[in-house]
Amino acid sequence: MITTLNQLRFDNRMVRELPADPETENYRRQVSGAVYSRVNPTLVKNPQLVAGAKEVAALLNLPESVFAQAEFAQVFGGNQLLDGMEPHACCYGGHQFGNWAGQLGDGRAINLGEVRNQQGDYWTLQLKGAGPTPYSRTADGLAVLRSSVREFLCSEAMFHLGVPTTRALSLVTTGEWVRRDMFYDGNPQLEPGAIVCRVAPSFTRFGNFEIFSARGEIDLLKQLADFTIRTDFPHLLDHKSAGIGVDTYLQWFNDICRTTAQLMAHWMRVGFVHGVMNTDNMSILGLTIDYGPYGWLEGYDPDWTPNTTDAQGRRYRYGTQPRVALWNLAQLANALYPLINAVEPLQQALENYRIEYERCAQRDMANKLGLSQFDPAQDQVLTENLLQVLQSAEIDMTIFYRKLASPLPADIHQYTDQQWVDIVRDAYYSAPNADAEMVMANWMRNYALRLQQDYVLNGNDDQQRRQRMNAVNPKYVLRNYLAQQAIDKAAQGDNSEVETLLQILRNPYAEQPEYEAYFAKRPEWARHKAGCSMLSCSS
Ligand code: AMP
Ligand code: MG
Repeated sequence: MITTLNQLRFDNRMVRELPADPETENYRRQVSGAVYSRVNPTLVKNPQLVAGAKEVAALLNLPESVFAQAEFAQVFGGNQLLDGMEPHACCYGGHQFGNWAGQLGDGRAINLGEVRNQQGDYWTLQLKGAGPTPYSRTADGLAVLRSSVREFLCSEAMFHLGVPTTRALSLVTTGEWVRRDMFYDGNPQLEPGAIVCRVAPSFTRFGNFEIFSARGEIDLLKQLADFTIRTDFPHLLDHKSAGIGVDTYLQWFNDICRTTAQLMAHWMRVGFVHGVMNTDNMSILGLTIDYGPYGWLEGYDPDWTPNTTDAQGRRYRYGTQPRVALWNLAQLANALYPLINAVEPLQQALENYRIEYERCAQRDMANKLGLSQFDPAQDQVLTENLLQVLQSAEIDMTIFYRKLASPLPADIHQYTDQQWVDIVRDAYYSAPNADAEMVMANWMRNYALRLQQDYVLNGNDDQQRRQRMNAVNPKYVLRNYLAQQAIDKAAQGDNSEVETLLQILRNPYAEQPEYEAYFAKRPEWARHKAGCSMLSCSS
């Protein structure tokens, strides 16, 4: 363990090994021939720590007490650089809402450097909202408290849910005001500025490769690919062989397809909707990255999107996420083609994505229902029917699966429709009528029959089933209205709700009876309130 920030050791591989933009002035521009541009964070008036994640500090070998050190807010508010930091912003492009958008880049993110911890792991530190960079285009490079609280809490919530994600070390307010037109209605408001320090093995996106391919900068494409394989995918390097070749690139792309499939299955399992699955928001490591207008399903609805900007096309709605990820992987395949020069093995990798996603989704569904395994012959229909029942009324996904883990009657004829529905009644947003009760009760009877068979075949019982289910069906998720309540308080200078949510979300699968109030449907007042159901990209 080290005790102060000055003891952090930086080993900035990206800066050292990859081509830098020779221009070091900070003005908006197209950057060619470089992977990144050097740029310093903008100084801020009065950086104050709102919250820190001790688990992330521990990744850097830092104790929790580091958050109390005066230096902390200065460094992670962007006012002070530590020895060894080499701030830079990366160049990337991307497909936004299905269209090639050209150069995007880290418009409001600045990598401070790569910490090499005592275990030999590398962690890149990145400030989000620390001022303009050459990639800021027409925007200001800043972030507001609202979106920063959401990013900070959700990053950590996802980690504790077991969903691959970038992490968040800290949340700092800057003491500055930032102008945002939250509703795109021509009425911008001043909001408190904030900066999150994100932490990940790397922040490389599909778009980092796409930009070089699109520009025909194949040498840069190869340099970045080789670097990424060496640093983020070292297990692909066979030390006996000559180095990185076509086979390595193919294995690499297969790896990306596999981890992306696993990520999609996780999102679907917990009811997370990213909201902006553009290729510049897809991590090469299969991490959840760029928390913007994301949301959590409340009433189960595959057509739901939290993003007002996407309300028309609903390209990034819950139910299409696995398909969109495949489309994004196909764009990455196109970008990597010049390194591979063969279509068939890339197509095969995309096919492998499909297979892996299906495998994970089936395994997850079996676990969500508490079955020993997914038996396609009967469980395909069982789950399709369930998803239909869940859609037929407004039924809270999180509450439904937790309640479904309750003990069931030994004899399925013992319960009336009403009694079956009682098991999951808390999940309904409005009282079901008799028809709706019958539909749910019939599904529950089929479910109970399937369980009986599983118990006989595999020696399971209700208690084991509950354990299996509660290990994959979270009790506590970061519902939008909960995040919004924490934001409203933090805006008044009261950080206690951010702390409380961080604490609850550390153990999302545990019962935590003292926090039972957070295991509740979205209240009616939050249904149409800004920030509590729909969100805009403006953050
Ligand atoms: P997003 O899809 O929101 O992750 O962002 C798309 C692109 O816009 C990325 O290149 C971001 O860096 C950039 N961007 C978003 N917000 C800002 C901002 N306030 N200032 C500068 N660039 C931004
Ligand atoms: Mg982004």
